[in-house]
Amino acid sequence: MPKESPYPNVTVVNHPLVQHKLTILRDKTTGSKQFRELVKELAMLEAYEATRGFQLAETTVITPITETTSYVLAGKKVAVIPILRAGLGMVDGILELIPAARVGHVGLYRDPETLQPVEYYCKLPEDIAERDVLIVDPMLATGGSAAAAIQLLREKGAKHIDLLVLIAAPEGIEEVLKHCDDIHIFTCSIDSHLNDHGYIVPGLGDAGDRIFGTK
Ligand code: URA
Repeated sequence: MPKESPYPNVTVVNHPLVQHKLTILRDKTTGSKQFRELVKELAMLEAYEATRGFQLAETTVITPITETTSYVLAGKKVAVIPILRAGLGMVDGILELIPAARVGHVGLYRDPETLQPVEYYCKLPEDIAERDVLIVDPMLATGGSAAAAIQLLREKGAKHIDLLVLIAAPEGIEEVLKHCDDIHIFTCSIDSHLNDHGYIVPGLGDAGDRIFGTK
């Protein structure tokens, strides 16, 4: 069975379909087309889990048979924020589930001297403060970019933020929770560790390269 989360703020989505798809995603022989499809499907299934707590309001609906009480979403609207570039691969799957969501983009690079993440692009929905924010990035490795994106979103007024990743390293989870202990992280797996090159072990390699076929 997949490892349960030892962190209270981290949910491992261990649904059998998710775990099966994750195995194919990890496989080095999986090509870009299937890799992209799997990232999209996993993002959708993860968003299903992450939105479990959304609020409902009662309404009435007339079916072909009779009028009945039923339920509609009543909570805040959603913003999906991919961290460029690999996060882009997760957007479409979430939009299929939440078509009214708005999409913002955050681009960060690591300064070669300070090793700190530096913002190079940020375009967010104007009403970001009124939306539930889902930051998406397939790999939570060192946690530097995710923590910087969360801080940036906070500065722009976002209040409720969740982070959706497909694979997380313990180092990344701890880095994010050190800076932001009130956010919730959803992942399909907590892997073993980071190697000397900053790759997650066992991981799946470079998610961006595999999504976009750049290697
Ligand atoms: N980014 C990736 O794409 N893969 C890793 O293993 C770590 C960071």
